[in-house]
Amino acid sequence: MATNVILARMGEVTLKGLNRGRFEAQLMNNLRYRLRSFGKVSIFQSQSRIWIESKEEGNPYFETEESAKELMTAVTQVFGIVSVSLARKFQGDINDIDRNAEEYVKNLLAANPSYKTFKVECKRGNKKFPMNSPMICEEVGAWILEHFENLSVDVHNPDFILHVEVRDDNYVYAGKMMGHRGLPVGTAGKGMLLLSGGIDSPVAGYMMASRGMPIDAVYFHSFPYTSEQAKQKVVDLAKIVSRFSGRMNLYIVDFTKIQLDMVKNSPHDMLTIVMRRVMLQIAEQIAKKNDCKCLITGESLGQVASQTLEAISITNEVVDMPILRPLIGMDKEATVKISRDIGAFETSILPYEDCCTIFVAKHPKTHPKHADIEEAEKNLDIEAMVKQGVEENLEVIKI
Ligand code: ATP
Ligand code: MG
Repeated sequence: MATNVILARMGEVTLKGLNRGRFEAQLMNNLRYRLRSFGKVSIFQSQSRIWIESKEEGNPYFETEESAKELMTAVTQVFGIVSVSLARKFQGDINDIDRNAEEYVKNLLAANPSYKTFKVECKRGNKKFPMNSPMICEEVGAWILEHFENLSVDVHNPDFILHVEVRDDNYVYAGKMMGHRGLPVGTAGKGMLLLSGGIDSPVAGYMMASRGMPIDAVYFHSFPYTSEQAKQKVVDLAKIVSRFSGRMNLYIVDFTKIQLDMVKNSPHDMLTIVMRRVMLQIAEQIAKKNDCKCLITGESLGQVASQTLEAISITNEVVDMPILRPLIGMDKEATVKISRDIGAFETSILPYEDCCTIFVAKHPKTHPKHADIEEAEKNLDIEAMVKQGVEENLEVIKI
C-alpha cells in the first residue's frame, strides 16, 4: 500500500549550532499551527527534512499533485522551509519501486502534460537493500521508458527528475515548490508594524517576519475621511501578512480628531512630519503595552518628502524603541515583486484613500530643520494627542 506524504526541506535553521534544537522546535510548532485546517496530520523531522503525513485515510489534500497544492503552498509559507515536494511512500523490493514510480509518473504527467524528458536519481539509506543506487536508477529508468512511450531520458536538462529514496520505507517524488526560506517566526522578539493600505508596509512586515519576528500591527484610521473600505483593506492586508507571520493583533487607532487638530494648528508644509512623529509615539506606547520590542515601517529612502534622511531623523527622535525599516535601501520595483509574490499587490492597489494623502500638503518640506518642527508643534499638545490615540476608541482585531 502506498500513501502520499509531503517532504519539506529546512534551510538556514540547519546552520544554527547550539541553538538548532530551539529553532527546529519552533519550526515544527509553526507548521502544526499553519496546517491545523488540513485534517489530522503527523509531522516529524529527521536530519534537515520534515515529513508530513495524513493520519486519516482519504484526506483529499494528500490525494493528487493537484489536490496537494493548497497544503504544499501553506507549507512553503512557513518561514524556515526551503522547498516542498509531494512524495509517494511505500514498502517493498525493486518491483514495488518500479510500480510505484510508474504510478507516480502517471499522476505527474496528468498534471504536467508537456513533460517529455526525465532522469532518475537515487539515494540509498538502507544499505541492506540488494541493489546499489546506480543499479536502481538504471532499472527504474528502463521501466519508465518502457511504460511511457512519449518520455525519453535527458541527463543534462530533463523536464523532471524522478527521485527514488530507499530507506526504512521507499519514496519516489519529482519536482519541488520553493519555500519562502528565512527563520521560524517566534525565534526573535515581537515587532509592531505600522500597517497602512499601501504596497510597502505589508512587504516590510513580511520581511521582518522572515527573520523570525512575530508581528502585531497598528493602523491609523481617520473616519470618515478614510472610509470603512480603506479599513477593510488594511484588515485584508493583515490577513495576507499573517499567512506568513502567524497570529497577529491589529490595533486600529481613531486618528480623526488628532489629525484635524494638526491641520488646524500647524503649518501645512510640515503636516506630514508632525503626523508621522505623533503616529510613531502612539505606536510605541501600544507596542510597549503589548510586549513588542521594535517598530517596523515601510519607509524607503527618498521615496517621498517624508522619507528624506532629514525627515527620517526628525521623526526618529521622538521614540526610544528601534525602528526597523527593511525597505530603506530597496528599489520600488523590487518591493512590488515581493508584494506580488506574497499575494498582497492586488489588495494594496485598491483605490481607497489613505489618511496621509488626504491631509497632505502640496509642497511639503523635504529638508526640515529643528527650528521648523519646533515651530510646527508649538501650538499642539502632543502629549495629549498621544494619550488620546492610545486610550480613546482603540480597537483590537484578532487576525
Ligand atoms: P505604504 O506603501 O506602506 O503606505 P508609502 O510609500 O505610501 O508606504 P507613507 O505613506 O509615507 O509611504 O508611509 C510610510 C510608512 O508609514 C508606511 O510604510 C507605514 O509603515 C506607515 N504608515 C503610513 N500611513 C499609515 C497609517 N495610516 N497607519 C499605519 N501606518 C502608516
Ligand atoms: Mg502610504
